[in-house]
Amino acid sequence: MALTNPDEIIHNASATRSVTVLGATGSIGCNTVDLLARNRDRFRVVALTAHSNVKLLAEQARLLEPEMAIIGDPDKRGDLQDALHGTAVEAMAGAAAIIEAASRPADIVVAAIVGAAGLRPTLAACRQGSVVAIANKECLVCAGDLVLAEVERSGATLLPVDSEHNAIFQVFEAANASEVEGLILTASGGPFRTWSREEMATATPAQAVAHPNWDMGHKISVDSATLMNKGLELIEAAYLFPVPADKIEVLVHPQSVVHSMVAYADGSVLAQMGTPDMRTPIAYTLSWPERMPAPTKRLDLAEIGQLTFENPDLVRFPALSLARAALTHGNGSTAILNAANEVAVASFLDGQSGFLDIATIVEATLDRVPAYPIASFEDFEELDAEARKFAQTLVKSRV
Ligand code: NAD
Ligand code: MG
Repeated sequence: MALTNPDEIIHNASATRSVTVLGATGSIGCNTVDLLARNRDRFRVVALTAHSNVKLLAEQARLLEPEMAIIGDPDKRGDLQDALHGTAVEAMAGAAAIIEAASRPADIVVAAIVGAAGLRPTLAACRQGSVVAIANKECLVCAGDLVLAEVERSGATLLPVDSEHNAIFQVFEAANASEVEGLILTASGGPFRTWSREEMATATPAQAVAHPNWDMGHKISVDSATLMNKGLELIEAAYLFPVPADKIEVLVHPQSVVHSMVAYADGSVLAQMGTPDMRTPIAYTLSWPERMPAPTKRLDLAEIGQLTFENPDLVRFPALSLARAALTHGNGSTAILNAANEVAVASFLDGQSGFLDIATIVEATLDRVPAYPIASFEDFEELDAEARKFAQTLVKSRV
């Protein structure tokens, strides 16, 4: 398991921790920045990175005073320098500068870039050997073996930010791992939980990103609507925890209060609960193995009244079965699944294809692009590019 025993890590509770946030301007990034801003005495910020939002990145940098701020778009270097004029923050730009920032020594790197674009920076963060708080689940889906190998080599610690995996991590008794019977990943069911296939056929991007419980970036919101997000999380869980894939179940729980569960051999099922606010799991990774206060709405079970559970409908939501099958086939298939899904979701958000086309494009790409085991970054790059190219031809044929 990639998750290190806390006893193996030397912690000084009173020392400030240094933190880098990759993808600071996104939904996870902003929640992280909020916690860092409320706890300036606990954390020192090394680097903040973003893709193109100079204004927000500069605001965050003025607030947190990192050593450096990096904008991915190289054409925006001048804008960032202007926006940070008069501060001590070093302004940098370009994909290589993001990787360099991820490589700088920091106690914790929060990996919160979306998609496979976050793989190189996340690998660099793992290589520098500290705690990597991983939100960027696509890294594990497209190249989980490479990430775990890097973690193993460097002695880094991978802590899950994703609420389900963070919940499992909180109640997973590492010392009793052999007595774990299974994991239960909960899923809200997304905005189309009760919709028919006919209704979903006409779903718009605006409807798909209107998640009932969580306020997230567009890509993961669409993934939640197709249930591909839960499929990606199934693969993520298989990499993070020493539990066979067929012992990882998905259970729809529309209230998003029980964030996931671990079932033990004695019949006990341990759950972690809380209101749906990502600042709770993020705070746990920033302060682990201790806890720190987070300003989230407290759970009031009497106010909520009822917690309900149902099995996922695999006919209306085929993405979940595609992800499970890819996981069974191996890491080449999960890389193809991820690449095709990224292309299909982007084309849906651009209005080039319909909502139901997403799973269709992923399935056809898995059928047609031959998978092979990924043993190196070059293997990943080649297969990822092939899958994207094929998925793109399917998008074009639909326009
Ligand atoms: P988002 O779209 O809101 O933010 C993405 C961030 O990545 C932004 O800061 C953006 O500037 C940066 N970015 C995008 N493309 C980039 C590129 N090519 N190079 C460098 N930086 C780039 O996404 P999000 O909702 O914050 O999700 C981030 C990751 O966390 C995803 O992998 C998602 O699955 C995962 N996650 C998110 C949530 C959530 O509540 N939002 C929950 C669990 C897991
Ligand atoms: Mg999740």
